[in-house]
Amino acid sequence: MAKSRFEYVRSYELPDPLMPGTFIVVRIDGRGFHKFSDAHSFSKPNDRRALDLMDMAAKTVMDEYKDVIMAFGESDEYSFLLKKNTKLYNRRRSKIASSIVSLFTSAYVFNWSRYLPNEPLRYSPSFDSRVVLYPSAKEVRDYFAWRQADTHINNLYNTVFWALVQSGQSTAEANKALQGTDSKDKNELLFSKFDINYNNLPAMYRKGSTCVRKPYPSTSTSSIAPEPSNIPSSTSSHNSPLVETPTRAADIEVTNSTTNTIAAK
Ligand code: ATP
Ligand code: ATP
Ligand code: MG
Ligand code: MG
Ligand code: MG
Ligand code: MG
Repeated sequence: MAKSRFEYVRSYELPDPLMPGTFIVVRIDGRGFHKFSDAHSFSKPNDRRALDLMDMAAKTVMDEYKDVIMAFGESDEYSFLLKKNTKLYNRRRSKIASSIVSLFTSAYVFNWSRYLPNEPLRYSPSFDSRVVLYPSAKEVRDYFAWRQADTHINNLYNTVFWALVQSGQSTAEANKALQGTDSKDKNELLFSKFDINYNNLPAMYRKGSTCVRKPYPSTSTSSIAPEPSNIPSSTSSHNSPLVETPTRAADIEVTNSTTNTIAAK
């Protein structure tokens, strides 16, 4: 069949392949979630329902894209690690970035009413997406350690900040009180003023959520994906996310283990 005279515009679509043999990380982040969390009355500093919804959306992505070998989430962001030799969309950057963030967003909206049943969705949330390549397991490990350190720094700050605000300070006063404080000061302030031992706060808030695929069980008993109310929060020692393990669709586990347990391979 003859090509139309318009066909030439296709040549403007340039290829955008990602370098072969590198780990692909896709990080998505909620757009304007400071405002979005206010508009939907998220409890501060951490709304557990909203975090569970993020985990659910991440699991949907892992169910659909088997080459995602692990994911890490905190606040309004999630990072997805693809296996080094993935052939997903012939490693086309924009296809990978856009497909993952699109599925994540639709799963977030699709599951909203299940996780926040009393909070009508007032407008359409959106997430941005970026792709970063890492040459070896060392950088991948440091990447997740970096995100987890960010979780800790933000959560410690936010915990003290909201404790001060909830005790009657204005947000400006709370900000000022925290200026120039280090983490030891913040821990002490929390303990002396509010009787909060930071280390006893839920691991999910302090360390974020890590999703890994469960290895095939050795018996024939099939395991079922946890329901939102009973997502395990315990540390799991068998996770070796960089080792490619065959998995089943539902066998994705959310933990709050530290990234130190990642096995390099
Ligand atoms: P940008 O569009 O640049 O990403 P943003 O407003 O989304 O801007 P972030 O730096 O991404 O800013 O921070 C996300 C904000 O969303 C947090 O600071 C927090 O206020 C809020 N937030 C996200 N998830 C939760 C949650 N589960 N509970 C309470 N607040 C949350
Ligand atoms: P890919 O994931 O590669 O895009 P695809 O199945 O989405 O695969 P497309 O070439 O994008 O394939 O074509 C979309 C298909 O979706 C159409 O061929 C048609 O069958 C169906 N479709 C989309 N919109 C409509 C519609 N409004 N009414 C009926 N069919 C539709
Ligand atoms: Mg952003
Ligand atoms: Mg954001
Ligand atoms: Mg963010
Ligand atoms: Mg299509």
